[in-house]
Amino acid sequence: MFKTRQESSHIVLAKSLAEKVRKFVDELIIPNEPQLNNDRSSTFHIHSELISQARSAGLWGLFYPLSYGGKIASLEDYLLIAEQEGRTEFSAAIFGSDTVVDAHMLAKFGSKAILKNFLEPMISGQAIPSYGMTEPERSGSIPALITTSASLANGSWLINGRKWFVSNIDRATFTTVLARTAGENAALDNSLSMIIVPADTPGFRIERKISIMGSNLSQGEISFSNVTVPEQNLLGTCGSGTYLMSQRLGMGRLLRSMNWLGLAQRCMDLMGARIHSDRAKTALLADKQLVRQHFVNVYEAIASARELIRVAARHIDAQCASDIEINVAKLAASRALCIASDSAIQLYGAEGISDLTPLASISRIARASRILDGTAEALISSTGRRLIHFYKENDGYQFI
Ligand SMILES: Cc1cc2nc3c(=O)[nH]c(=O)nc-3n(C[C@H](O)[C@H](O)[C@H](O)COP(=O)(O)OP(=O)(O)OC[C@H]3O[C@@H](n4cnc5c(N)ncnc54)[C@H](O)[C@@H]3O)c2cc1C
Repeated sequence: MFKTRQESSHIVLAKSLAEKVRKFVDELIIPNEPQLNNDRSSTFHIHSELISQARSAGLWGLFYPLSYGGKIASLEDYLLIAEQEGRTEFSAAIFGSDTVVDAHMLAKFGSKAILKNFLEPMISGQAIPSYGMTEPERSGSIPALITTSASLANGSWLINGRKWFVSNIDRATFTTVLARTAGENAALDNSLSMIIVPADTPGFRIERKISIMGSNLSQGEISFSNVTVPEQNLLGTCGSGTYLMSQRLGMGRLLRSMNWLGLAQRCMDLMGARIHSDRAKTALLADKQLVRQHFVNVYEAIASARELIRVAARHIDAQCASDIEINVAKLAASRALCIASDSAIQLYGAEGISDLTPLASISRIARASRILDGTAEALISSTGRRLIHFYKENDGYQFI
């Protein structure tokens, strides 16, 4: 392996965990993918077994806050692990990393009651979070339009509204809801709040499951009809929802991008396997320039996204991240996955779009990556605005 200088102990630790995660993914998760692709209710026992194996192997919740059992403190270091984990779409739930953003949000902004009632059970695997922001009647790209309302009376929040495309809905035990706590004319910066609602609260209902491109990825629509929860279920302070959302999205976008990078690498590996298969050798595919072009495009997309993610992670670690680094990293990771899955499918021909390889399933994730956690257009628009604004007051952008 390429090694230029003495590696510090935290990088050595991240590399060794990344190797273990890769082995676990290759030996225990990928062989089970065909079964895991079925509805979760029928594969519950496989998930549970793999989760307990991940826990026993010391690979559960590696990026949880250190005080809650996490082993890695830096997002930049965690990239090495997250990309290995991301090589299959099923890893996040098995390694507990689909709850990492919630763990950090609750640890940082939760009341004592939230830590005890939601965070601690989540860390031990007894509670599962979901996040309700997007609404059926409003554009998810514009949080200012959120209509779900919450009002405080007699020590309780009264919540009414509807959310959709909420992930993990089939197993979540609580939802962090982004709700309007000030009138429609109040400034966005202090009109929204995040409140935690246990899934067994009267008035909370799962209206329906929503499949994504023909597959159940565990999204659904939920409603709140006169739901009441204690005042202490407020995350952060009243009106801090917009700030909390930016914190959540920043880390969430980057973690998701790291996983997508892993999936893109898997596509490239599958391309490599295909090109050296007997059938490809017979057709002399490795000698075709257009085939070579696919490899170069995929390599370039992955390598550049990887570097952009690393830079954004470094900024978050140093607590000086701006939307520019994070959004561009997310755009690049999503593009890398789209290019890689598309090229891999092309090289596999008909098999690529069948269920005989994981590629069709990966391409579903790739397509969704341009929409979830902020649509590509919304990210481009806000990042472009910031860059143009930057030059109002500065004459040179410094890349660090
Ligand atoms: C797999 C998956 C999982 C998800 N999980 C969750 C979850 O757990 N919790 C949750 O709350 N939500 C979740 N979502 C919803 C997701 O966050 C939203 O879909 C996303 O924010 C976009 O909102 P929207 O769908 O309402 O699209 P809209 O905001 O209506 O955007 C639709 C289109 O309008 C155009 N557009 C929008 N803004 C601009 C702009 N500024 N400039 C130019 N064009 C623009 C773009 O073409 C855009 O694609 C998930 C979605 C998916 C697909």
